[in-house]
Amino acid sequence: MTITIPYLDTLVALGRFIEFYDPYGHRFGMPTYPYRNAPTEYATRRQLRAANLRPGGQDIAAQILWRHKGKKRVAYLYEIAVAKAKRTATPAQRAAIDKALLARRTCRTCTQVKGYYIPRRYGECLDCAQPAR
Ligand SMILES: [Zn+2]
Repeated sequence: MTITIPYLDTLVALGRFIEFYDPYGHRFGMPTYPYRNAPTEYATRRQLRAANLRPGGQDIAAQILWRHKGKKRVAYLYEIAVAKAKRTATPAQRAAIDKALLARRTCRTCTQVKGYYIPRRYGECLDCAQPAR
């Protein structure tokens, strides 16, 4: 899949050299776009996660290159169309999570289930951790 950016194509046609614009990957080996000019069909892993998606085993489709403090920086892009919904826990996993969360609310000293997580620094509920008066 090759996606060109019409605005950048225009600049190139006018004779501008855009160092990090290489939609065919001739210079960088994969489709490359300058910072803030990536096609909307692509997203970084972080952007996918924000949309509750994951790359889903696909290869890196393209990259963004830019310079930061003299160093070349890269961000890899994935095709949004191929991305998959984030895995949700199976019922068994869900049960294990619930059990672990319940354990975190259960006081080891008085065995009561509290409405809050047992503070790790006490290792027991706030009632049990109450200093003797
Ligand atoms: Zn307690």
